[in-house]
Amino acid sequence: MIRQFIEYYKPHKWLFFLDMFAATLVAVTDLIFPQVTRTFINDIIPDNNMELLVKIAIALFFLYILRFFLDYIVGYYGHLLGVRMEYDMRKDMFHHLQKLSFKYYDETKTGHIMSRLVNDLNEISELAHHGPEDIFISGLMLLGSFGLLLGINVKLTLIVFSIVPFLVIFAIVYNSKLRRTFRQMREKLSDINAGLEDSISGVRVVKSFTNEPFEEKKFDHGNESFKILRGRSVRHLGIFTGGINFFSNILNLTTLAFGGYFLYRGEIETGDLFAYIIYMGLMIQPVKRLANFVEQFQRGMAGFRRFSEVMAVEPDIRDREDAQDLMDVEGRVRFENVAFSYGDREAVLRNINLEVPAGQTIAIVGPSGVGKTTLCNLIPRFYEIDSGKILIDDQNIQEVTMESLRGNIGIVQQDVFLFTGTVYENLLYGNLDASEEEVMEAAKKANAYEFIMAMPQGFQTYIGERGVKLSGGQKQRLSIARMFLKNPPILILDEATSSLDNKSEAVIQESISELAKDRTTFVIAHRMATIRNAQRIIVLTEKGIEEEGNHAELMKLRGEYFKLYNSQFKPSEVV
Ligand code: ADP
Ligand code: MG
Repeated sequence: MIRQFIEYYKPHKWLFFLDMFAATLVAVTDLIFPQVTRTFINDIIPDNNMELLVKIAIALFFLYILRFFLDYIVGYYGHLLGVRMEYDMRKDMFHHLQKLSFKYYDETKTGHIMSRLVNDLNEISELAHHGPEDIFISGLMLLGSFGLLLGINVKLTLIVFSIVPFLVIFAIVYNSKLRRTFRQMREKLSDINAGLEDSISGVRVVKSFTNEPFEEKKFDHGNESFKILRGRSVRHLGIFTGGINFFSNILNLTTLAFGGYFLYRGEIETGDLFAYIIYMGLMIQPVKRLANFVEQFQRGMAGFRRFSEVMAVEPDIRDREDAQDLMDVEGRVRFENVAFSYGDREAVLRNINLEVPAGQTIAIVGPSGVGKTTLCNLIPRFYEIDSGKILIDDQNIQEVTMESLRGNIGIVQQDVFLFTGTVYENLLYGNLDASEEEVMEAAKKANAYEFIMAMPQGFQTYIGERGVKLSGGQKQRLSIARMFLKNPPILILDEATSSLDNKSEAVIQESISELAKDRTTFVIAHRMATIRNAQRIIVLTEKGIEEEGNHAELMKLRGEYFKLYNSQFKPSEVV
């Protein structure tokens, strides 16, 4: 996983090296000051050497100007590195998400994906640049000061640094505790996000059932566990920071006690002791940086693990290497012995054989849950079939590019999904290249033009999130207009009018008939008006396609269709 992480540095390696180079020099400038102090006390003060003082002061001044630029580079380019890596990862993840099939989305909570795209990647970007900086600067500072102090006095250095292993052990123990709580926190937060996304998008259902208290309880529960985890993590963090400070104080104490003793014995000079004390003060910084790194590393890696989990999901439906574009589609559709099941479940469809000539309208009827929607979802290859073949104009759909396949199929569903935005933008979704005239024309054909023009800003009216500001019939008309713009040779109407009242249905039926003209059309319907319009009707049952024919023929059979007619299609619903 680390290797995968490192891959993301590659495009920005120069930024990385620049950042590391500057970070190294930052550490070096930090190491210089105690040495200067030492010279100051040991040589300048006793000898009244003003010339050296001036020289050192000027040198330090230039060093600090250089340091200003170095800090700027670390602060600016370092963060820029993180920002760019985050951009790349977010882009990769979104592009990858676009490739994943229905199957993945059937099983994944939207909130989980959101929390990965937003929070996790942010943590990763922080780690991406602070991580190496921290390790580099602190490693260099610790090793550097160790080396320099050894040069001054071996005995005192060994005594003082004998405390360091304890500090390291302490850090490792709390490191693992922190890691555990951070991982749990991340998972919990993502659960909260998922729940939130569910209850906010379902807010209308929540309110209609007056189930707000239930939702609140659910939310509180998650929020509460998160609070507890947060509490635990900050407790560990508190002990961690306190412990680190304690050790650094002990370091100071040891330096002072032993240093004072050696000074008394005349084994070191005053300036040496000062240098020690300043180095000890400086050492808190890299140790804290390391501690900070430990925390950041845990968080960032937890985030990156979740990121790579998503990236590792293979898109189960994709173009074959030798896939060709489906061109000049006439619209013949053929099912050959098709079988399909959702995952490990029992097969929904078996032995489906069906041949639909180009331009024909075929109605699919059958009891609810028998697999009508499923059958239609197989044509655009939203799900991969288990066996058999589906052909369009004699070409196996698995052998053509998905873009050309789906570009030739239009689906109008019962619950229309509209995007937040204007009417115009939503219509344009059918064909992003459509001209304004074409959009107007499509709206007219879909019987939508008048109601759109009656709205306050006409085509530029905002329709609210998912089109909440429109009626069911209006939304359906927009989705039909969108389909006119897409203009596919094959059309699927999945209970497109089921949720509408009779009057809206009559209006929409008219535009649907217009839309279906000269296209191969699959209609899943419950209403007589729609079914009677079809040139051919197939009856789907658990056993497969059980009956086939037109209305009169099927009624004569007195079989499944006859039963369905009596229970569903017949009543006053007939328009
Ligand atoms: P119909 O459209 O005829 O009412 P569907 O095609 O929607 O029926 O569903 C057929 C069967 O497949 C049902 O038993 C349903 O529970 C199941 N099913 C539908 N969609 C999924 C899915 N995404 N994952 C798993 N099972 C599903
Ligand atoms: Mg259905």
